[in-house]
Amino acid sequence: MQLQLASWPEVERYLETSKVVLIPIGSTEQHGPNGLIGTDAICPETIARGVGDEKGWLVGPTINFGIAQHHLGFPGTLALRPTTLLALVRDIVDSLAHHGFDRIYLLNGHGGNIATIQAAFAEVYTEHSLGRSGNSVSPRCRLRNWWSGTRVGELTRKLYGSADGSHATASEVALSYYAHPEAVKEVEMSPRVAPGGPIFDAVDYRRRFPDGRIGSDPSLATIEAGEKLYQAAVDDVADDLERFRAAE
Ligand SMILES: [Zn+2]
Repeated sequence: MQLQLASWPEVERYLETSKVVLIPIGSTEQHGPNGLIGTDAICPETIARGVGDEKGWLVGPTINFGIAQHHLGFPGTLALRPTTLLALVRDIVDSLAHHGFDRIYLLNGHGGNIATIQAAFAEVYTEHSLGRSGNSVSPRCRLRNWWSGTRVGELTRKLYGSADGSHATASEVALSYYAHPEAVKEVEMSPRVAPGGPIFDAVDYRRRFPDGRIGSDPSLATIEAGEKLYQAAVDDVADDLERFRAAE
């Protein structure tokens, strides 16, 4: 069930039997010459909805923005400050806990968000520990990156090896193409595999990584591979979420 397509009585009935909710979180940022700017939001959103449909969990609206300052040298990127994302995540988690959700699972599509999401969880726990949250429920929160399961890891290595890279990866572009076949772009990469290196500010990033990719060859991305990655990710996340839900 998708929260945005549900009515409040449906959510109230859901809460009688389940306190689990999935929230996809991503970013709006450049993904190289053939990658979609919405890639980091599209991937977790598609996977979360797949898990929700398969297992009957509630899936909330996608947080489409993240920590993307280093991509601001490329048009289309929209970046939040860490303090903005922290406040946003904290308010959403607090709202969910207010309604009684106690297993809040953020499925993340952007590595740059990890530290800030964890900091937001720490804020939520701190307020509750100090008796100031105002919520009767103390929610357990989990952050999971869609690509970190064993099935996705094995499949990605098999499909792309080291050419998957670390930004505008072949695997994430493939998954976004599976979700949006109407947006597939045929672009030749030069060089085939992009350079690697560290990330600092936006000017430095564009100088090091002129077409936006890091270490990847996303021209290898296909809809067919994206479908396999999607199914692997749905299975990985469904297992991980079940362990999180059932844990003592
Ligand atoms: Zn990405």
